[in-house]
Amino acid sequence: MKVEVPNDLQPGEAVLVSACLLGEETRYDGGHKKTPALVDALHQAGLRIISVCPEVLGGLPTPRPAASLEKGGASAVWGASARVRTKEPPADVTEEFQNGARAVLEMAKAEGARYAFFQERSPSCGSLQTNVEGALVDGPGVTSALLFAEGVQVIAINA
Ligand code: SF4
Repeated sequence: MKVEVPNDLQPGEAVLVSACLLGEETRYDGGHKKTPALVDALHQAGLRIISVCPEVLGGLPTPRPAASLEKGGASAVWGASARVRTKEPPADVTEEFQNGARAVLEMAKAEGARYAFFQERSPSCGSLQTNVEGALVDGPGVTSALLFAEGVQVIAINA
């Protein structure tokens, strides 16, 4: 995998990275998505890696049931017309998803991070596609939508 690092990033600058891409076992299934090519590219650029897992930061356990956004996706979740739910067992995890997203945004602000390198297709970290009603659809996850709205660019990593 080739990872493109935006050329306006300066050595020493902080970037957010999905924890699972760094090898942390934070995924819903207890696994990770360690991506050495990403870590190498960020190190070569001299960037400061800030590891974040929005779902864990929001208080969810690992492993945890897979979650999906209701129709309308992340913008509807933030607009309070859709929820984030798990199927097995059925639960509403909207608050945890939103709290995790807010925690990530606070970290971005505290560290001055302008970019996030996030695992694609996640209901939190996805930026091009996310999980809506059990299917992959175009659009960001809950955390990426908030970061985009606050001016943080999210770069999709397809690990
Ligand atoms: S994709 Fe995002 S929310 Fe999911 S495990 Fe990785 S860091 Fe956590």
